[in-house]
Amino acid sequence: MHKDVKKVLVSQEAIIARCEELGKQISDEYRKIESTPLLVALLKGSVPFLAELVKHIDLDIQFDFMDVSSYEGTESIGDIRVDKDLDCSVKGIDILLVEDIVDTGRTLLEVTKLLKNKGARDVKVVSLLDKPDRRVVDIKADYVGFEVPNEFVVGFGLDFDQKYRNLPYVGVLKDEVYQ
Ligand code: 5GP
Ligand code: MG
Ligand code: MG
Repeated sequence: MHKDVKKVLVSQEAIIARCEELGKQISDEYRKIESTPLLVALLKGSVPFLAELVKHIDLDIQFDFMDVSSYEGTESIGDIRVDKDLDCSVKGIDILLVEDIVDTGRTLLEVTKLLKNKGARDVKVVSLLDKPDRRVVDIKADYVGFEVPNEFVVGFGLDFDQKYRNLPYVGVLKDEVYQ
């Protein structure tokens, strides 16, 4: 375990096993509606999750990336700025958004709205983690890896100050790391 980590919440083995289950479920459900989704991963936190998940999706999917930031500390909280947009048009396309964690839900709500405004046929969400206690807007991921308690977590893509994204598990940092 990394020296800065206090405890592991979700092990690497559990993440891989859950990605296998989610991959099967996603494949089955999209196959049923004869659709192959475009996976849209939100940078940077969702990259390790995307990489593990796609290995277990048995459909001819494509993936692309978006980077967004929210205007925090302004009146327009909830609005987002697109820092990196998709390479292709989304008109008429079924999108599966790939997120690291759903916290307040604001990011996902705004990105979903934006993609629908651009003509996406359908937008669903798969998130590695979910913190339901923190939700402030009415949005729910269609597929969730694990529910986590209301604690700040790092690892498997999730950062503190851009660090710890490469940890192969999800954990909580020691208090002294924040001092
Ligand atoms: P939301 O718009 O749902 O409040 O924010 C989601 C984003 O906040 C996530 O994509 C992630 O970047 C960040 N976030 C929320 N909770 C955590 C957490 O516990 N740890 C880390 N590292 N990032 C978090
Ligand atoms: Mg994020
Ligand atoms: Mg972050």
